[in-house]
Amino acid sequence: GVEAGGLYTATDQIILLTPATVDAVLVNSTAAVVVEFYASWCGHCIAFSPTYKNLARDVREWKPAVDLAAIDCADENNRKVCTNYSVRGYPTLKFFNAYSKAESKGQAFRASSRDVRGIRQAIIEKLEKHQEPWPPACPPLEPTSKAEIDSFFETNSVPQLALIFEDAKSYIGREVTLDLLQFDNIAVRRVLDTEEALVSQLGVTDFPSCYLYYPGGNFTRLKVKYEARTFYSYALQRLPGVSRSGKPTPNITHQKTNSTEEPWRRFNAVRVYMADLESALHYSLRVEVSAFPVINGDALKALKMYMSVLAKYFPGRSVVKNSLKSVDSWLQNTSGSDVSFDDFREALDNTAQAPDTALPDRVRWVGCQGSQPHLRGYPCAVWTLFHVLTVQALHAGASDGLEVLTAMREYVHAFFGCRPCAQHFESMAQESLSEVSSSTTAVLWLWTRHNRVNNRLAGALSEDPDFPKIQWPSPEMCPLCHTLKVNGDHKWDLDQVLPFLTKYYSNSSILTDFLD
Ligand code: FAD
Repeated sequence: GVEAGGLYTATDQIILLTPATVDAVLVNSTAAVVVEFYASWCGHCIAFSPTYKNLARDVREWKPAVDLAAIDCADENNRKVCTNYSVRGYPTLKFFNAYSKAESKGQAFRASSRDVRGIRQAIIEKLEKHQEPWPPACPPLEPTSKAEIDSFFETNSVPQLALIFEDAKSYIGREVTLDLLQFDNIAVRRVLDTEEALVSQLGVTDFPSCYLYYPGGNFTRLKVKYEARTFYSYALQRLPGVSRSGKPTPNITHQKTNSTEEPWRRFNAVRVYMADLESALHYSLRVEVSAFPVINGDALKALKMYMSVLAKYFPGRSVVKNSLKSVDSWLQNTSGSDVSFDDFREALDNTAQAPDTALPDRVRWVGCQGSQPHLRGYPCAVWTLFHVLTVQALHAGASDGLEVLTAMREYVHAFFGCRPCAQHFESMAQESLSEVSSSTTAVLWLWTRHNRVNNRLAGALSEDPDFPKIQWPSPEMCPLCHTLKVNGDHKWDLDQVLPFLTKYYSNSSILTDFLD
């Protein structure tokens, strides 16, 4: 849950230290740990907290080697911990080596600049200076040589090696090495531009550039839009044969197979299908709401808002729209503070039988099919539905940017059966929904928050190995959406993302049938 009064929550991918957990996290741990000691009332700490959250998202793949933690020293229960670590001012960052002893106070941690990039680079420098015992999950970070590469495949059982050629000042090679540490069947090494034997063997002229090197000495250059960290990491993580540790190799041919009872419907993984949206309607209204035999209070308010945005913005078949409109007007006109689910269900079924009306009465996932029965399906369709609704509201010229998102927030809060998901979503809404002012910012808000969830869930048990969680849309789907900051870090080009989203989720792009 949410730490009372603290600056971070469970969704931030930052370990929230307490007196009870501090030893388990900092003492004798297999990963190095960066700890922010802060006081929730301190202005600098409040100003710094978005940077620390962004850092946690930026280096989430590095967790097995180095993790981030924080503790609120303003909380009286935590005072003793902060005093024990000799912390007097806030915010203080400290670096704890892997296998630190109980008496270790951590090392002072100064980044050249207190932005994500500066701290990320300082973490790399700390890791490089890490004494033995080295965090076991951390791959070697020092530059490699021709001699090492010549015998590489004799001592390493990986089928391919990514070599990042760069100058000594560049951090890209080390960043990509760490970005790939949770992936099997690939290793990454940096090669300095001064390593002439290798540079001339591969004919390298661009620094940075990335080459794939195979046993026997064959090599090819990795093709990317920009010679930059994010593009290398994304491309390498998705190479054929490369898979997240502990997960089966993804089926990258899009000839997906499944072990579900349902026959597999071939579909295009980068399109939206009406079958998923209509299935989401059925499941949300008939199945999820049925958890409430009597709907009242906040749940009734949530249902009314949800029905209202469905009636206004659900795209597609007019028979379905007609049904939604008549259920909506029935619901908005019911008097009294209670609605029984049976009455609601009857309204759904009756309206669906009236002339020119229809409501699907079962689920049939297409774009949301999973490779296993418990993967994807409903939650995938919920995201898809609300992306579509925010885009429809924008196309309809809705003036209240919050209309759809508030309906989503209330729906998820009241009915979404995955309760931890609902809590996480609610804390994102509390944190930033107030920033949404127009239908345009609503579309972008849902996109960025969905990407945050994707970032947090990459590699989780709920991730379908055939549909890895990525920062969406990928460079293949929307090359123009991806660009670079002056400092070489990845940046979304919002002027491109917005038209991409509004087209991808527009009524005219939704496929009404699947491939057969
Ligand atoms: P999904 O993430 O469901 O996405 C569906 C489709 O949307 C993708 O296939 C892609 O085409 C598109 N898409 C992906 N990213 C974006 C984006 N940024 N913008 C626009 N479109 C995009 N699961 C948990 O384990 N823990 C949680 O805390 C959690 N919270 C959730 C909160 C909500 C509100 C919802 C609806 C779901 C939540 N889930 C959570 C479920 C999880 O997010 C996925 O829905 C589920 O794992 C299925 O993943 P998927 O591969 O089908 O892709």
